[in-house]
Amino acid sequence: MNTDITDCLDGLSGEELFERGRGITYDDLVILPGYIDFDYNDANLETRVTRNIKIKRPFVSSPMDTVTESKMAIYLALQGGIGFIHYNNKIEEQVNEVRKVKRFENGFITDPVALSPRHTIRDVDNIKASHGFSGVPITEDGTLNSRLVGIVTNRDIDFEKDRSKPLSSVMSTDLITVNQGCTLSEANKVLKQSKKGKLPVVDDRFRLVSLVARRDLIKNKDFPESSKDIHKQLLVGAAVSTRNEDRDRADALAKAGVNVLLIDAAQGNSIYQESMLAYLKENYPEVEVVAGNVVTLRQCQNLVEAGADALRVGMGPGSICITQNMMAVGRAQGSAVFQCARYAREKGVPVIADGGISGIGQVAKALSVGASAVMMGYMLAGTAESPGEYFYENGIKVKRYRGMASLEAMEAGGGKRYFMENEAIRVPQGVSGTVVDKGSLVEYIPYLTKGLKQAFQDMGYRDVPSLHEALYSGELRFERRSPASQAEGTVHSLYSYREPKFGIK
Ligand code: GDP
Ligand code: 5GP
Repeated sequence: MNTDITDCLDGLSGEELFERGRGITYDDLVILPGYIDFDYNDANLETRVTRNIKIKRPFVSSPMDTVTESKMAIYLALQGGIGFIHYNNKIEEQVNEVRKVKRFENGFITDPVALSPRHTIRDVDNIKASHGFSGVPITEDGTLNSRLVGIVTNRDIDFEKDRSKPLSSVMSTDLITVNQGCTLSEANKVLKQSKKGKLPVVDDRFRLVSLVARRDLIKNKDFPESSKDIHKQLLVGAAVSTRNEDRDRADALAKAGVNVLLIDAAQGNSIYQESMLAYLKENYPEVEVVAGNVVTLRQCQNLVEAGADALRVGMGPGSICITQNMMAVGRAQGSAVFQCARYAREKGVPVIADGGISGIGQVAKALSVGASAVMMGYMLAGTAESPGEYFYENGIKVKRYRGMASLEAMEAGGGKRYFMENEAIRVPQGVSGTVVDKGSLVEYIPYLTKGLKQAFQDMGYRDVPSLHEALYSGELRFERRSPASQAEGTVHSLYSYREPKFGIK
């Protein structure tokens, strides 16, 4: 029998699966397995999160006040993703979170905090309290680019009772330094040999130009896939609303070195968003802009034409979201991602699938229907790096997780996305609840990464671009899942079983 490859094609192409007028969610579809000719370790998850920013892992954290502040953004970027700092706060607070990310693990700390010999031990205590470090280079006039005369570290001041003593009396002056222009690996070598915690970098006139910290040496080793800019600073994003007054916020964030701004709106197809987009593109051409949220081609078209560098896709799929119940608008997330991504690809704009991800399989599904990255709230809430404290509910360790349009978050100022702050009557589009402790991202992201690489192997594609090519050529095959097949495709029939640590979704 002579069987042509087309006769062997089983299931449906993306085009056939997402036929018009039928909303398909991630759970409604399954991907038919491909051919394995590589080790899963060789799967490459590098992706574009915006037109001009590539990251090593397709993981993005949502700008929500129970998900992303600096700690989340730092640990996500260290492991190849990127975080978007929420804006349910004062401008200075959001800027400060961005700064913390930019200052973290810079390789070279290009703006180290310095003091002069006339400052006191108490000044070092204050720096420790506000910035968290106590290794302070001492220069003649206490500024960068002034002559280096000493260094003060914890060991110099630990046992000093009199905190008003000038630093000139306690600083170490037997300095080990490297010259400006040396590479990070040369600096690290000197740092290792010297056994010191900090290594000042000086110019030919012994003026302080930067600093290398021993702690970063360890981090560099541990996180080779981290998302960094050309200055070796971690990449970070931040959200702003579409309101005119948030132009000040955007100005301050851009000045603080944010790499990507995200215009946060539940329904992104608006005159307000277009005008914010135009403002950002005109004033900060070097800052990438994520626009959204969108779910239809018409919405995508408007934002792409207005200059969006990425589209954030999703309306209603979020775990905390009740928009489709309350407002009657939205779209099933699989259909939304497929339709928007197919359009955006033609324009060279990546799509971030936002919301409704509750496990590795759904990340794989989002990418397989055209997304370049996934934005997660639920998945990252409840980790050690998300804002908020753990507490116990019915004996289970949990953290709070809330929609930004929940009554609770709106009262705290989060109604901007929904134009509802300062209003007497509030109609929530989200709920507030708790999620179970997921431990630290340092274990969780490698787990998600490995799982996703194995999913790529089962699908038979080594990387995101080849997966997308297969989607659009029709080589990638899907099937719809009936309710019975969904029940069959998960745990069933057991009297009892133990869930794996990170759940089964
Ligand atoms: P210390 O021993 O108390 O100075 O602090 P560590 O060495 O434990 O931590 C210093 C961390 O803070 C490193 O990750 C640095 O990259 C980071 N950092 C950021 N900016 C500065 C700075 O201006 N001075 C110092 N000393 N560290 C900084
Ligand atoms: P999750 O990952 O929890 O399924 O979804 C997170 C996404 O839900 C966010 O990135 C955001 O797009 C959306 N979202 C956040 N808060 C709210 C809310 O209060 N209402 C609605 N409708 N969506 C929300």
